[in-house]
Amino acid sequence: MYISLVRMPADGLRFEHRYATGELDTSNHEFELVEPPNVTGRIDRTGIEMRVRGEIKTSFTAMCDRCLIDVPFSLVIPIDLLYAPEDPGAGRSGETEIHDRDLDISIYDHDQIDLDALVLEQIELSLPSRLLCSEDCRGLCPECGVLLNEEECGCKKPVDPRWQALADLADQVKLNKPNESPDEPDN
Ligand SMILES: [Zn+2]
Ligand SMILES: [Zn+2]
Repeated sequence: MYISLVRMPADGLRFEHRYATGELDTSNHEFELVEPPNVTGRIDRTGIEMRVRGEIKTSFTAMCDRCLIDVPFSLVIPIDLLYAPEDPGAGRSGETEIHDRDLDISIYDHDQIDLDALVLEQIELSLPSRLLCSEDCRGLCPECGVLLNEEECGCKKPVDPRWQALADLADQVKLNKPNESPDEPDN
């Protein structure tokens, strides 16, 4: 879905789009849509740039980092983005450079904004960097691969990741003080 900027009203363009199932191609992304997104917003002209504000509502699933099971998410993602024309010189006399062309500015082409790309990118950016089905997810057994949330296995018990840092520290202390006897009192 593209939003045409050809007939931009002076006071901004409002848009709303409810995606149909299968309309968005998520094959290159790390999430699976459960409910196709609903996008609402407005586009305003700010100089030669377009400012897109609004929100995306959607539900999707993504994989838990520990147990690799799909975790459902419902999200409302606020958007506030700047779009610059691909050729900033077009239709403008004088200077043609966009001031400090920073990375937050997306590009639009042929007087239209690619809403699909916008939505997919915003969902991708909203994925938490560390994704867990629950804080105490026990993950998979590193030895036999069983799902430890659901069954026990006979393998050596893996260290709870929350205690791993402490265990590492204890190892370091042992290594640093190899000759100290704990029974000897201080003088
Ligand atoms: Zn998990
Ligand atoms: Zn095991």
